Amino acid sequence: MSMLNAFQADGRFFRGNLHGHSTGSDGAIDAEEVCRRYKAAGYDFVAVTDHFLERFDYPVTDTTPYRDSSFTTILGAEVHAPETRKGIDWHILAVGLPTNFATTGSYETGPELARRCARAGAFVAIVHPAWYQLELADAKSIDVAHAVEVYNHMAHVSVDRGDGAVLLDEMLYTGSRLGCIATDDSHWRLHDAFGGWVMVKSESNRPETLLAALREGSYYSSQGPEIHDIRRDDGDLFISCTAASSVILLGQGRCSKTAHGCALTKATLSLDRFEGSWCRLVVVDAAGRKAWSNPLWP
Ligand SMILES: [Zn+2]
Ligand SMILES: [Zn+2]
Repeated sequence: MSMLNAFQADGRFFRGNLHGHSTGSDGAIDAEEVCRRYKAAGYDFVAVTDHFLERFDYPVTDTTPYRDSSFTTILGAEVHAPETRKGIDWHILAVGLPTNFATTGSYETGPELARRCARAGAFVAIVHPAWYQLELADAKSIDVAHAVEVYNHMAHVSVDRGDGAVLLDEMLYTGSRLGCIATDDSHWRLHDAFGGWVMVKSESNRPETLLAALREGSYYSSQGPEIHDIRRDDGDLFISCTAASSVILLGQGRCSKTAHGCALTKATLSLDRFEGSWCRLVVVDAAGRKAWSNPLWP
């Protein structure tokens, strides 16, 4: 897991949505139509992650019939258990579950359920932390998490709580090693699709290969801007991207390093200020849309 993995790995980038719902739970359209819409919008893959709850008959929605030569799906679910420090049921994303994943036990806590998902091979993410005011201690208890949602489009569109960066940075500050993903969490009841995605570097668009790349952190996330390359040469980071207004490195506390300009497509940022500690990259375009790298550790 490193900022550089996606740019050093072999293969090409595949665009996907890792978090979304269908009529398998509380989404407005069925899984076939979800897949059709993402494919039509230019995505290479999608994970339909319905709510794994008794009232929906514990779905791991089977999207395998909607795969074709240029579009694939990863099976998964959003799993739930009691209960966070705010007294709300946990929401935990598990991308890469078998269709026979055992139903949630009444004894199971969020962290235990997350561990069972990880043991089953899933990429596990802490989702929409701002949306339900998830606390740092809660997030730290999900000790198998691969990522935090730095952006959840549904939470942004519906209640202006889509930004997970504060919790992500607290996790990093306190020593967690994880990545960050942008997702739609689309339910198709409002305009909550095509707002945030991952770009996964993989040798092929096969679900197992994509899943392995996700677990290794070979991806970045976006609302629009593309990060073409990030290279490190001693104390400098060289970034190339689509036209940007700001290229920002963020680290511990108030550590930052920035390049601002008009239609920047290249930037060189010194790593001096981040010595001995982590940093992560954010690229912002003229419309305010962002792309996020995974963190870099020394
Ligand atoms: Zn949720
Ligand atoms: Zn969801």
